[in-house]
Amino acid sequence: MTKGVKMVRGGCLVLAFIFAVGAARGSVLFDQLKKEYREKAGVELVAGTEKFSVMTDYGQIEGVGAGTGDIDLFLYMFRKEFGKYPPELLRLSGLKRIAFCSELLHDGQRRSGVALSENFTVYLNVRSGVFSERFRRKLMHHEFFHIIDFASFGYERDTEWEALNAPGVDYNPAAATAAGHGPSSDVTHPAAGFLTRYSLAESREDKAELFSNLMFNDLQAREFIKRDGVLAAKVQLLKARLKAFCPELDDGFWARAIQF
Ligand SMILES: [Zn+2]
Repeated sequence: MTKGVKMVRGGCLVLAFIFAVGAARGSVLFDQLKKEYREKAGVELVAGTEKFSVMTDYGQIEGVGAGTGDIDLFLYMFRKEFGKYPPELLRLSGLKRIAFCSELLHDGQRRSGVALSENFTVYLNVRSGVFSERFRRKLMHHEFFHIIDFASFGYERDTEWEALNAPGVDYNPAAATAAGHGPSSDVTHPAAGFLTRYSLAESREDKAELFSNLMFNDLQAREFIKRDGVLAAKVQLLKARLKAFCPELDDGFWARAIQF
């Protein structure tokens, strides 16, 4: 997504992750969720107030932890969206940590979310209030998908996925962020096979955009998928891969996801 969904990979940690993982203060809900995710999936939720910085091959990720004093509204969204996932999927993905931040930057540019494979951490900016609730809910799925994608598929170029696109269609990061087209994660169906402009950037983002719209059950996206054969084929491949990775992501899972 334009404002913060870059998968950063392949680098090295220069400055270790320094969120405090001690007892949270200020939010009963945070404490409940922290306990729940640790117990059911071994995932640590962190929301200290320290600054952090991680250098990767793709640039510097830095920010400030959100603290737990004023993040309950964000946590309500998180509880519902992440609650759709079976714990087995969280475990299989290798996700170690979800960091709630009040500032999040990639090479100095503001981001709403980042997924890092170096430390299997999803960073979510709880203060990006300029974005819609819809965007923020989808963002959680988008970022987590990058972790799933890394764990299940890896870093290789996804030629099987790319082969689903119409002949002559090439991914292009510049097209995904062209000015004058509004937020690039809006479901506008900018080309056959693509739900959003951001999905034009590269196959990893394309997959994450499609996944997030399926998980959120975006009704507009469902309409486009119904009448676009390329999108339908991408959905089929995505679901087949996910089921192979985690058998609990079967037809029943997707049926529940749209009723949630
Ligand atoms: Zn992304």
